[in-house]
Amino acid sequence: MTLFRGTVVDTPDDPFAGGDLRAVADAGLLVRDGVLVERGPFAEVRARHRAEDVVVLADGILLPGLVDTHVHCPQVRAIGGLGMPLLEWLERYALPEEARSADTAYATSVAAEFLAGLVQSGTTTALVFGAHYPGAVDVLFEQAARVGLRITSGLVVSDRLLREDLLTTPQRAYDEALTLARRWHGAGRSRYAVVPRFSLSCTGDLLDACAALLRDVPGSWFTTHINENVREIETVTGLFGVGTYLDTYDAHGLVGPRSVLAHNVHPSDAELAAMAARDVSVAHCPTSNCALGSGLFPLQRHLAAGVHVALGSDVGAGTGLCLFKEGLQAYFVQQMLGEQGVALEPRHLLHLATAAGARSLGLADEVGDLSVGKRFDAVWVRPRRGSTFEVALRHAGGPEEALAKVFALATPADVARVWVDDQLVHPTPASEQDGRPGGFVRSRRRHLAWPQESAALSVAGGGDGRSIDA
Ligand SMILES: [Zn+2]
Repeated sequence: MTLFRGTVVDTPDDPFAGGDLRAVADAGLLVRDGVLVERGPFAEVRARHRAEDVVVLADGILLPGLVDTHVHCPQVRAIGGLGMPLLEWLERYALPEEARSADTAYATSVAAEFLAGLVQSGTTTALVFGAHYPGAVDVLFEQAARVGLRITSGLVVSDRLLREDLLTTPQRAYDEALTLARRWHGAGRSRYAVVPRFSLSCTGDLLDACAALLRDVPGSWFTTHINENVREIETVTGLFGVGTYLDTYDAHGLVGPRSVLAHNVHPSDAELAAMAARDVSVAHCPTSNCALGSGLFPLQRHLAAGVHVALGSDVGAGTGLCLFKEGLQAYFVQQMLGEQGVALEPRHLLHLATAAGARSLGLADEVGDLSVGKRFDAVWVRPRRGSTFEVALRHAGGPEEALAKVFALATPADVARVWVDDQLVHPTPASEQDGRPGGFVRSRRRHLAWPQESAALSVAGGGDGRSIDA
């Protein structure tokens, strides 16, 4: 067992339902076999477990691992295509890059870059748009398993209106996806998701094939795009001859509690009511919405209708993989909406980036907060020495304020360590050997700690257990 000591902040009670932030300045979290088995004030937990190794996270804040509910693996190299609305951006920028994943060697490099980017950003769980090519999706799953991330992903399918080399047929889509699902669904931390790109690029027959796959792979997830851009919505409803965008998925039996629909910037009231009734989750992707000029997300209407909302980076239209930036942008968007906006506080941002994401992926019993019984998926945010973030955090008046500073200022460079199931996934011993900044010394076991003199918390405790310091 391992006893983690540090300042721990999470949101087990939904702040959108009135829940408070849970913050403990000097907490002890006891972890056994990847699961949190005990938590409380450090001194009390320590008194009961004097023989256990202690990992001292001396300053900074320990948060639950971040959950990204919408991100595209093959677009990681395409981040930063500014100045275009959605459909033009796809055609000129994103899709040519996605087509390169037809070459599995290319896709292998991209998947490695993508996964490294996720863990460096503190993301431990993600719902990922795979690629249009089964070979590329296979290597994504393979490498995610090696890195240790909790991912739900699948083959992206389309059979019209995209460039020719990204198209498939309903039968081929079903067969290739089923082969991938048989290999990866439920293997370790991986799960399969059925992923039609969006109704615009999918015929009714292809959506039927997706529905068949969803039925034939029990427990698989469904994810796609919806109501992102006004021109896109007009085209889609025209193509299908239906009243709303949601109808295009709903008519094929694709919408339910295992659905995560990305964007939903321009929903009708009827769509919101239907989403709430079917317990659908929406992935809100604020930097993408702003970068593409898609619109300002109507969070207030989602909350009023009872639609569950989580956060997504939507890389590569989103401007980075770090959910702290997405949280801040979500806050900006709501501010810009004035009276139509929701006054988000730091606790809401943390919830959107952690527990809300876990819920939308059906993982709320396992991850999303640091309660007893949950898996130890966690991110230790520790500012770089001398950075403005360090200065601001040091002068925070309390946990809410400290958390506000995390969302305002923290970047991947401030993500000191990341665990999934108590397995250290960032930085890894290999990345340390590569000379990348790790800033810590490995102990004889794999537990790590900061030098005593830099500690804001003392290692006191005075037990006979081994406190491992550098
Ligand atoms: Zn997207």
